[in-house]
Amino acid sequence: MSTTTTPEPRPHQLPAGLTASLEEHVLVRDQYACFRCGLHSLEGRVWVFSRRPGKGNAEMPVRMAVCNDCITDITSPAHRRRSIRLGYLIPADNFNPAAIPVLHHRNGWVVLTQDGKWAKADEFAVRDWEARWES
Ligand SMILES: [Zn+2]
Repeated sequence: MSTTTTPEPRPHQLPAGLTASLEEHVLVRDQYACFRCGLHSLEGRVWVFSRRPGKGNAEMPVRMAVCNDCITDITSPAHRRRSIRLGYLIPADNFNPAAIPVLHHRNGWVVLTQDGKWAKADEFAVRDWEARWES
């Protein structure tokens, strides 16, 4: 009888040879931390959230790492307009997700690019977007 167990891989240590899936790419891009509050996946559960909830959209700019509490807050109907203004929700399918700025907890306003990276958001685009969704 063997008592040897294989330790669970830590979130940032993928088993050797495993090709990173879209989900893993998103977690690596977002440094295993909630986009909105910065909670790290070692401190609590961080999910790959869709900025278009309920849609099976695999584009990188649609996805971001978000913790449980922030998902609850972002998707609350009472906070919908604010979540759109801050880029966490995409209001309709005809918006280009790579063009909608999103507020990162540490890096400020960024856009999520098709090639799986962040870029600093254009400040005029941010101003326009925020003004459009002021309540
Ligand atoms: Zn969070």
